[in-house]
Amino acid sequence: VTVELSAERHALAAAIGEFGRRAAGSREQHERLNAEAEHGHHRGIYAKLAALGWLGVCIPEAYGGGGGGAVDMCVLIEGVHYWRLPVAGTGVSLIVAGAYERFGTDEQKRQILGGITAGRVEAISMSEPEAGSDVASLATKAVRDGSHYVLDGQKTWCSAAHVADHILVVARTATGSSKHQGLSMISVATDSDGLQIRGIDTMGGREVNDVYFDGCRVPASALLGSENNGWRQLMAGLNHERLIIAAQAVGQARRAFDDVLAYVKERRQFGAPIGSFQAISHQIAQLATEIELCRGFVYRLAAAVDATPGTTFPREASMAKLTATELAKKTTLAAMQMMGGYGYAVEYGMEEQVRRALVLPIVGGTSEIQRSIIAASYGL
Ligand SMILES: Cc1cc2nc3c(=O)[nH]c(=O)nc-3n(C[C@H](O)[C@H](O)[C@H](O)COP(=O)(O)OP(=O)(O)OC[C@H]3O[C@@H](n4cnc5c(N)ncnc54)[C@H](O)[C@@H]3O)c2cc1C
Repeated sequence: VTVELSAERHALAAAIGEFGRRAAGSREQHERLNAEAEHGHHRGIYAKLAALGWLGVCIPEAYGGGGGGAVDMCVLIEGVHYWRLPVAGTGVSLIVAGAYERFGTDEQKRQILGGITAGRVEAISMSEPEAGSDVASLATKAVRDGSHYVLDGQKTWCSAAHVADHILVVARTATGSSKHQGLSMISVATDSDGLQIRGIDTMGGREVNDVYFDGCRVPASALLGSENNGWRQLMAGLNHERLIIAAQAVGQARRAFDDVLAYVKERRQFGAPIGSFQAISHQIAQLATEIELCRGFVYRLAAAVDATPGTTFPREASMAKLTATELAKKTTLAAMQMMGGYGYAVEYGMEEQVRRALVLPIVGGTSEIQRSIIAASYGL
């Protein structure tokens, strides 16, 4: 399965592949890394990604990064997820990096972008118990008090908050005439007084958290961009976030595909490899075709994002997120069925891949919401 990449990007993909193979190529290595990780995040592996310059691959050189763009970011994310490296802080940190690149002051960029490049995790928190798909209805408040903001409320589903230095919180700083008005982005250090982080048990582990604010005071300089401009700032980063999730899904789909392909070539029943039965081989052919098409579309969108800075591509970003995440889910479930009882067994690794794929059509805007966005872009 191939996409058109420059020689430099091929070299990056090959280097990440080599790293992934050495660090997590065997089942034993994968299990050990998972056991060592703090709920999905292995600080040692993450530090190595930073030392190799990969966490900063799409961060400007002025802040210690490699100065690359969306294509480089997709290569990194796809590789990390293909090799199933337990570094849950990667995707969210890159989402936060995008927001700082667009709206941060020089000082903020130095701190946050420089920190991510050096291996620190940054989380982002929009979702609340009563504001999921309808995220603009969020109610967590940030009230200005002299040179500080005081936050009160509850956030939920905050990925990697347990290993993050800061959480970029979207909070209500004013009540406007519409729910989209009066939102602001404020960075809260995770060791702040009045902030509590509590893990949520899920079928993918405990990588997400409830976050409680109780009179949590942060300096006013923690505001990102302008006050009450949070919704516009969020919208400006949607293509970035959806590309990250799409690239992750492509990595997971490709991995499940490669694993099941190897399995059906080896597993014999009725005196022949099960891959020789048309019921199996046609599924393999179909998945290969869909993965190839989807991967090509994701990288084509990334290249378009790089070529036209400032364009948000809402329709295409939703198409990429929708297609890639549904494909990762479909591929892992098909792979599990093709592996029979061994697909269901923990030992063979596919059940973990299924669990990790099932969440993809939910996070970052569900598939239903992506379809609504795509439909709206056609005037429906
Ligand atoms: C593992 C995980 C990690 C996450 N990480 C983060 C994070 O780091 N930061 C963050 O802010 N959030 C995060 N989220 C939250 C995620 O973005 C939300 O779960 C998602 O947007 C859906 O919101 P909800 O769960 O409240 O579902 P709901 O909005 O209650 O939706 C329930 C169902 O109704 C459907 N539905 C809702 N509205 C419509 C509509 N208008 N039309 C059709 N169908 C509709 C949905 O598609 C869904 O099937 C994470 C979630 C998970 C599970």
